[in-house]
Amino acid sequence: MSLSGKTALVIGAGGLGGPALLTLAAAGVGKLLLVEDDAVETSNLNRQPLFKEADLGQRKASAAAARLRALFPSIAVDARDLRFDADNALALVGAADVVVDGSDNFATKFLANDAALRAHKPLVHGGILRTTAQLLTVAPAGIGGCLRCLFEEPPPIGAVPSCAEAGVLGATAGFAGALMGAEALRLLAGERGAYEGRLFTYEARSARGRLVLVRRRPGCAACAGTQPLEPSEPVACAAPDRSEGAA
Ligand SMILES: [Zn+2]
Repeated sequence: MSLSGKTALVIGAGGLGGPALLTLAAAGVGKLLLVEDDAVETSNLNRQPLFKEADLGQRKASAAAARLRALFPSIAVDARDLRFDADNALALVGAADVVVDGSDNFATKFLANDAALRAHKPLVHGGILRTTAQLLTVAPAGIGGCLRCLFEEPPPIGAVPSCAEAGVLGATAGFAGALMGAEALRLLAGERGAYEGRLFTYEARSARGRLVLVRRRPGCAACAGTQPLEPSEPVACAAPDRSEGAA
């Protein structure tokens, strides 16, 4: 099936979700299902390309949908002004061919991880902090492990600063979001993801990137009972205990 027959679920329409949505729409993905429960604030505008000053105070879901429809009239946009939560996660994920996690909090990221694995849908995670971007693709029965293999549980609230607290370089978000969109396109086209079971970290100040295998963690509650594929090429490994991997 061509991209025009595919549906992408994008969680969050902000710094990561916005560039991902633009990438998916520009490539001709037929339907974009986006979930976002925030309003546009001044502090968003440095990194959230779907919004303009005239949108301040508007709901992000409706502003993002209006922008996407204006730019790409042939794309179907289903924008939901709601939070991705335990009550709606499986239904939303089940309606999509690929899931792009552009959320800004760990609880949502872990929920997206668990729901996508349960529904057997591929998922592209992304995260940014200051000048660092991270990507990880979780493919059911694919290579390597999932977010829960890597971190097991979300960190306690407040243990990791949010973007609002720590700040984020707008260009880092644009870069990471565009890579997430490109990765979702690969998956929709039936190819293996570039970050499938591999954590990609890019540090913008040093221009250093790193790609490490995320091992399947025995007893992982999210991907238990599935067999990982062996990667076809040797890659450095990230141990499940968050320690740095050796090449
Ligand atoms: Zn796992």
